[in-house]
Amino acid sequence: MPIVITEDVWWPIPDWITSKYEVLQDFTLWSNPEHIVSVGANADALVVRNRTKVDRLLLESLPRLRVVGRLGVGLDNIDLQACRDLGIVVVAAKGCNANAVAEYVIACMFQHARFLSVCDSCTRTGVWDRQKCMGRELNGKTLGLIGVGDIGQRVAVRARALGLRVIAYDPFLLKSHMLVQDFAVELTRLQLVCQMSDYISVHVPLTATTRHLITENELALCKKDAVLINTSRGGIINENALFTHLTKQPESFAFLDVREKEPSAADDPFLLLPNLFLTPHIAGITHESSQRVAELVLDDIDRVLSG
Ligand code: NAD
Repeated sequence: MPIVITEDVWWPIPDWITSKYEVLQDFTLWSNPEHIVSVGANADALVVRNRTKVDRLLLESLPRLRVVGRLGVGLDNIDLQACRDLGIVVVAAKGCNANAVAEYVIACMFQHARFLSVCDSCTRTGVWDRQKCMGRELNGKTLGLIGVGDIGQRVAVRARALGLRVIAYDPFLLKSHMLVQDFAVELTRLQLVCQMSDYISVHVPLTATTRHLITENELALCKKDAVLINTSRGGIINENALFTHLTKQPESFAFLDVREKEPSAADDPFLLLPNLFLTPHIAGITHESSQRVAELVLDDIDRVLSG
C-alpha cells in the first residue's frame, strides 16, 4: 500500500513505516500536480504540508486514495468537501505544533518590547547608548486574541503568567471555559479587541468566514502603536489594508509569519516597511514539534490503512 509524500517531513520517516509500506518521498511533488497523479496512481495515502493544493481534481485523479495526512494544522489547502464526497479520511497534527506557535508569539512580543538584536549590534559597534536601548515591559499591557483554540489558549496562559491582561474574541468559546474561569481571560467583541489591545495575535483557521476578517475597519480601531502578530494565515488580514495602515501609522508594528502569497515576490512592497518583521511561515516549526507532527500523522495514516 503506497504512501506518497509530496513535501518535506522535516523528521526521518520511522523504519516501521518503511518496512510496512512502500513510501515514495519527493519533496518537490507539491509544485507539480500532474506528477503527483502519475506517481500516485496506486497511492493509498497522500502526505502533504501546506503547499500541496489537494483539490477535487487531484483527489478524483487518485483512484485508490483512502487518507490524506496533513503535516500541520491548517486545512485550507485541502478540499474537505471533496474528501467527504469521495470517502477520503483527512488526518492532521492537531495540537502538535501549538506550543511552538505560542512561544513564537511571545518571542515576537519580547522582540518588539526589548529589540535585543538591535541592542547587541549597537554595543558591538561601540555605541554605548543605554537610553536608545530602553525597552518597555509586557507586564500590565493588554493582549487581544482573535481565535482561542489550541494555539490561542497556550498564548493566553503564557501571557497571563507574564502579567498581561488578556482579552479575546472567539464566538465558539464558552464563558465556562477554564481560560475564562481560572486564567481571567476576558471574552469580548472583535471591535473591542482591536480598540483595547497593545498586542493583537490572530489564531483562527482560514475559512470563507474568516477570510479578510481584519480589514481597514478593524485596523482603524487599533491603538496607534498597537502590535499585530499573524501566525495564522495570510488571507485572514486584508494585506492591502494592512500595508496602508503600516504606512500611515509609523508607530504601529506587525509581525507576519504567514502571507497571502508564500514566498512573497522580490518586489513585494511589504519588504521595504521598517515597522514590520517577517518570517517564512516557521512559527510552528521546532525540532520537538516536527517530531510530534510526523509521528502523529504517520501513526494515524497507519491506523486508517490498517482499518
Ligand atoms: P484550532 O482549531 O484549535 O482553533 C481555532 C479557533 O478559532 C477555535 O477556537 C475557533 O472557535 C476559532 N474561530 C473559528 N472561526 C472564528 C471566527 N470567525 N472568529 C473568531 N474565532 C474563530 O486551531 P489552532 O490549532 O489554534 O490553529 C489556528 C490556525 O493557526 C490554524 O488553522 C493554522 O492556519 C494556523 N497555524 C499556523 C502555523 C504556523 O507555523 N504559522 C502553525 C500551526 C497553525
